[in-house]
Amino acid sequence: MVNAISILGCTGSIGRQTAAVAEHTGIRVAALTANRKIDLLEEQARRFKPEFVAVYDEEAAKLFKVAVADTAIRVGSGMEGLIEAATLASADCVVTAVSGSVGLKPTLAAIDARKRIALANKETLVCAGDMVMARAAEVGAEIVPVDSEHSAIFQCLMGRGEGELHKILLTGSGGPFRGRKREALEDITPAQAVAHPNWSMGAKISVDSSTLMNKGLEFVEAMHLFHVTPDDIQVVIHPQSVIHSMVELVDGTVIAQLGVPDMGLPIQLALTYPERRPSLFEHLDFWKLRDLSFEEPDLENFPCLALAMDCARRGGTAPCVMSAANEVAVHKFLRGELGYNRIYDAAVGAVETVGWTKADSLETILASDEAARAYVRENF
Ligand code: MG
Repeated sequence: MVNAISILGCTGSIGRQTAAVAEHTGIRVAALTANRKIDLLEEQARRFKPEFVAVYDEEAAKLFKVAVADTAIRVGSGMEGLIEAATLASADCVVTAVSGSVGLKPTLAAIDARKRIALANKETLVCAGDMVMARAAEVGAEIVPVDSEHSAIFQCLMGRGEGELHKILLTGSGGPFRGRKREALEDITPAQAVAHPNWSMGAKISVDSSTLMNKGLEFVEAMHLFHVTPDDIQVVIHPQSVIHSMVELVDGTVIAQLGVPDMGLPIQLALTYPERRPSLFEHLDFWKLRDLSFEEPDLENFPCLALAMDCARRGGTAPCVMSAANEVAVHKFLRGELGYNRIYDAAVGAVETVGWTKADSLETILASDEAARAYVRENF
């Protein structure tokens, strides 16, 4: 179990839940970072009394510094501030809950400082999976996934020996539009896309869940985290979100992890691992569980998942280009500037137009990321 944590991205959905879990389990919050939501950040800073807070936005950082001038909190800003929070000597674990490729550099810095990484930033593995996993192995930094599916797989693999895994069964609810045809999704509004049936999440990831791009990003992440090939991962649609993912072992045994759909659970495990602690979350009530059902993913009407699986096979910067293009397109959709089905068009267009190359340096990865963003900004 960890003693003190740095939360990168503390004002987002995962960041706020992490702070609550830390409070419940008695884990000290040593550092917080946020982009620019300084009102909430100040509230959190006064409550958790971290020694260091970084505000990514330089202007917001100045305002924040004035706001907490009566406290002993040190304030940093920009990428430098994020990296300082990620490498703070007094924290033994860094929760990477920032969204987007801004999380890459601080995560690599935290790995080099041999912190436990409670990984909630998708771009880290989607864009730089090979590099991140290799560096973590080299220095001996632990990576414990926070995403519910990867946490489930991680738990199912605890105590398993090398060579026992046959395949990963990555489950997903299918999102709010499961069963619909692509043509019927043309006029979907942001409000409809962010209303997820089972999980309460931020707007961007909710849209990704509805297009199944989120499952696609998780597919790429699972490949890196568990050192498997795309052929070793099967996506299984399970609308009730009670099973959070499964593994099939070589003898045909399937092990599943079940629980209520609450992100607090995988967050808590990432902090208490390898221990288990009582939690504040609801427990499963089997008398109230409806039938658990399973179906094949609909790749034809939800082409984002097929695209992500293709990009996973291509490797290199292909998943990064796809993910960056998707991110810009989703934000355009949320602002009402782009139709729902155009999100896929933007992602596939970026992969075809920007192309992909070997992801052998952070500079190459960040350049691909930027090229994909520019492509969508200019063409959609
Ligand atoms: Mg997930």
